[in-house]
Amino acid sequence: MIIDQIGKITDSVYMIGSPGVPVYLIDGDFPALLDAGFAFVGKRYVNGIVDVLVDRKPAYQFLSHVHYDHCGAVSFFKKNFPGLQVIASEKAKKILQRPKAIELIYRLNQSAEDASKKGGMVADLTGSFEAFNVDMVVKENDVIRISDTLSIKIIETPGHTRDSISLYIPEQKILFSSEALGVPDKTGYINSDFLIDYDMYLNSMEKLASLDVEILCLGHHYAYTGKDASEYIQKSLVQCDAFRQLVETCVQEEKGDLKRIMSRIKKFEYDGKPGPQQQEPAYLLNLEARIKVIQKRMEERKSG
Ligand SMILES: [Zn+2]
Repeated sequence: MIIDQIGKITDSVYMIGSPGVPVYLIDGDFPALLDAGFAFVGKRYVNGIVDVLVDRKPAYQFLSHVHYDHCGAVSFFKKNFPGLQVIASEKAKKILQRPKAIELIYRLNQSAEDASKKGGMVADLTGSFEAFNVDMVVKENDVIRISDTLSIKIIETPGHTRDSISLYIPEQKILFSSEALGVPDKTGYINSDFLIDYDMYLNSMEKLASLDVEILCLGHHYAYTGKDASEYIQKSLVQCDAFRQLVETCVQEEKGDLKRIMSRIKKFEYDGKPGPQQQEPAYLLNLEARIKVIQKRMEERKSG
């Protein structure tokens, strides 16, 4: 099954807020949240969390990474749920101590709010990003217990960013991959999202592909169950390789001319696609980063 609506995914897992920038709630004796979307959607997330937990409170706030669209509402959650412990990688903790990073996360959250107001989608919502601390640092194979029958295992999945982690619930074979397995659009095309390093990203994908997965919850838009989950994982590997080949071909044919390479790839994977899409400036920034990752890899291979 392909899930593209907020609500219950299993008896203990919920997609909250908005499928585009979801918060996942993993319920148990110590309820956990994964990611915190946009700052301005904060109130909607809190309402969704309270609908499920009623008079209980979430204990943990996991962060897959600290891109602005994954950590926007953390400080708002901390205010609403006193005692909430923020859990992320060591690298994420360090990023959040840099004033420049905080400034960028703040600014991008404001422009996401402005864009959504223009689109009239969630014009009733508002809220700004505020800095916060990571309370607990986790690393590969750490396990956080949610209840007697539910635990969350940390899998380091760098490549999209350096601070990326994925979460796995072995008892129920549920994987939260965030952007480590790409981001699909409405046509089924999967945007391969290696902003830092291609081989690192591929290793992370292969690590996730080796897990036994019944339910796959992505960082944006979709969750999959059963056959759809395993098919998505396989497809994300195939499409990542195909995207690398496409970039290599464009780099060679356009003799490294970044503008022309970008326009060819944008035509292929972005232009004319049905929404909701990433905003164009953000798409272009990410595209440039991905092309540069492949160009660097090509040069290293040539000289190596
Ligand atoms: Zn991201």
